[in-house]
Amino acid sequence: MTTVAAIIKPTADAPFEVGTIERRAPRANDVVIDVHYAGICHSDIHQAREEWGKAIFPMVPGHEIAGVVTEVGDAVTKHQVGDRVGIGCFVDSCRECENCLAGEEQFCLKGNVATYNGREYDGEPTYGGYSKQIVADENYVLSIPEGIELDVAAPLLCAGITTYSPLKHWGAGPGKQVAIVGMGGLGHMGVKIAHALGAEVTVLSQTTSKEEDGKRFGADHYYATGEEGTLKSLRGRFDLIINTVSADLDIDAYLSTLKLNGSMVFVGLPENTQQFRVFSLVGGRRSLAGSNIGGIRETQEMLDFCAEHGIGSQIELIGADEVEGAYDRVVRSDVRYRFVIDTATIG
Ligand SMILES: [Zn+2]
Ligand SMILES: [Zn+2]
Repeated sequence: MTTVAAIIKPTADAPFEVGTIERRAPRANDVVIDVHYAGICHSDIHQAREEWGKAIFPMVPGHEIAGVVTEVGDAVTKHQVGDRVGIGCFVDSCRECENCLAGEEQFCLKGNVATYNGREYDGEPTYGGYSKQIVADENYVLSIPEGIELDVAAPLLCAGITTYSPLKHWGAGPGKQVAIVGMGGLGHMGVKIAHALGAEVTVLSQTTSKEEDGKRFGADHYYATGEEGTLKSLRGRFDLIINTVSADLDIDAYLSTLKLNGSMVFVGLPENTQQFRVFSLVGGRRSLAGSNIGGIRETQEMLDFCAEHGIGSQIELIGADEVEGAYDRVVRSDVRYRFVIDTATIG
C-alpha cells in the first residue's frame, strides 16, 4: 500500500479537507499514475453532498483524471512509464457480459466499478482523482495523445465522452442540423465536438450571455430559449438535439423542433420526472432517448479525435483549497466552462 495525499470529503455535511488515503500496491496488470489534473463534474457535487442516495464516505471524488504513468505491473503491455494517460468514470467492469464484450463497459450488466464512491469487486472502496496518485488496471486507462495539454484533456474523460458518444451514435456530421441544449461543462464540449464532426451546430441556451463563446467554440447559430417564441420559430429544424441541462424542460416544445426521424437525447439528468405528449413523437416518427458516457474503446477514439482537431475543454484551473467554493459556483452555473484542480497544490 502507498499513502497518498488527497482532497477528502469526510461526510456529506463536512467541508473538504486535505488528508491521506491508501492506494493498493500495483498488481501485474496495474498502472500507477501520478495525477496532474482532475476536473470537477457536476455529478461529483451530487455524490459528495449525497444528493443521489447513500454514498460511501470518506469520499475522494474525481472521474476526469489526467496524469503520467510512474510505474507499471509486470504484465502491463498498453502503457509505459512516462506515458500521458487518463481515467474516466469507471476503473473496472465484469469483462464477460454482452455489453462489456461489445466494448460498452459503461453499461456492464454486472455493474462496472465507479472510479470513486464505488467498490472494487473485492469490496474495497474506490477513491477518485482529487488526489496525487491513482492505481488502476491498464485496460481502463486511456492514452492522452500529444497535442492536448493534460489540464484541458482532463474534462474530456467525462464531459467529452458524454457528448461525443451520442453525437457519433446518432450520426452527427456534414449535412446534419444538431442542437445543443445548455452551454455549461457538457454543452460547450458538445458544441466543439459536433462542429468538428462537420455538423451545423445550434446552441439553445436560456439567454444569449454566452453567445460569443458559443460561436468561438464552433456554433453556427445561437438562440435564447428564455425569449418568447424561440422554439416555435425553429419548428422542424433539427436532426438531433442533445440536452445537457438537468433542469425541467418543455419537452414537447423541443420535440417540435425535430425533423422527420429526428432524435432528442438526454445526457443531463433532471431530478424530477419529465413529461411529454406521445403525439409529439408519432407526428414525426421522432425518438426520445438517453445516453451515458461511453466505453473504453470509444473514449480512446474521442481522445484521438480531440487531439486531431485541437479540442480541449475551456477550463478554470484551481487549487486544492478552492474546491468548496468551486462547487458552489458550479451549482450557480458560474463557471466558464469546467473547473480543473491542479493536484500539485494538494498537501
Ligand atoms: Zn462526470
Ligand atoms: Zn460487464
